[in-house]
Amino acid sequence: MSDQRVYNFAAGPSVLPLSVLERAGSEITNYRGSGMSVMEMSHRSKVFMDIFQETQDKLRRLMNIPQNYRILFLQTGASGQFSAIPLNLIGKTGRADYAVTGNFSSLAYQEAKKYGQISLACDTGHRNHCYIPRQEELKLDKDASYFYYCANNTIYGTEWDYVPDTGDVPLVCDMSSDILSLPVDVSKFGIIYAGAQKNMAPAGLTVVIIKDGLAGHELPFTPLMMNYQTMIDKDSMYNTPPCWCIYMLGLTLEWVEENGGLAGMEELKWKRANMLYNTLEHSRLFQLHADKGSRSGMNVTFRTGDEALDAKFVQEAAAAGFVNLKGHRKVGGMRASIYNAMPVEGVEKLCDFIRKFEKAN
Ligand SMILES: *Cc1c(COP(=O)(O)O)cnc(C)c1O
Repeated sequence: MSDQRVYNFAAGPSVLPLSVLERAGSEITNYRGSGMSVMEMSHRSKVFMDIFQETQDKLRRLMNIPQNYRILFLQTGASGQFSAIPLNLIGKTGRADYAVTGNFSSLAYQEAKKYGQISLACDTGHRNHCYIPRQEELKLDKDASYFYYCANNTIYGTEWDYVPDTGDVPLVCDMSSDILSLPVDVSKFGIIYAGAQKNMAPAGLTVVIIKDGLAGHELPFTPLMMNYQTMIDKDSMYNTPPCWCIYMLGLTLEWVEENGGLAGMEELKWKRANMLYNTLEHSRLFQLHADKGSRSGMNVTFRTGDEALDAKFVQEAAAAGFVNLKGHRKVGGMRASIYNAMPVEGVEKLCDFIRKFEKAN
């Protein structure tokens, strides 16, 4: 079965570690002697509560999350947080700063404008989001309720290589596509959140890490299911949580731990990404979308400049076992998403394929 697997460069949902899938497969009808699948269990049963608690503990350990932060396992999708964040946080001053560096931060910005006075700390749209602004370029409002940014721009292939300094203004960060790919100092953040389907687990789970004291000041019309305080009070179990995804996250976290933790993931990340960037930089056929110094270690965006040739590349790559390389329509060209679970060998072979394609064309 596993020898027929392709190298899957999808942006999300995306590749998961093979050993995680095999482990889940081996437990799918009878989870560790319980006589049932995790999919069939009551979320309030002891056996599931243990899975839930162990998964939280593993995430806290791996990311070194301080004790004054809560970990929530929600179902809103990362996009649901575009609403939940202003609803819960903007009440403090009625104002917030947004750094728009790509598609998802732009959507979050548009959504937040419904709930308060939102300022652009930066907007890289004038260059089709090919770069990340430097700290001194950010326009900061010291009375903002929070500062919002997206750490890795999945569609454009750029990634912040620093954590913005916003003084006393809480940082809110969408880490959907680079969480668990590097160690982060969680204590610098008010909220870190991520949809699971890029680097953690199947789609359906959204992880929110929130500092104590930020919740509890939501706007009065905040929907119950988007109220952080409700979810904190009920430990994410106001209603049925995404049980299967939480279990899968637990397996992925174990895999991360066994493979050197977040420092190990960061080393592998740049090993894969630098290999691909070097190959593309030395090519006369391909151009990179993102500026040097702003390039993502997770999503590599490139093109030939000729749409027909791009399509040929995507098609021939797929036939050779490298699938889902078509870029997002907002950028065109190609995108190789090389998340934690992409084996280094997959990128080595893709680089060989790129060189061969260049020679032939
Ligand atoms: C995929 C993605 C989203 C959207 O995630 P959903 O769970 O589909 O809502 C948001 N932000 C980033 C950075 C993403 O990569």
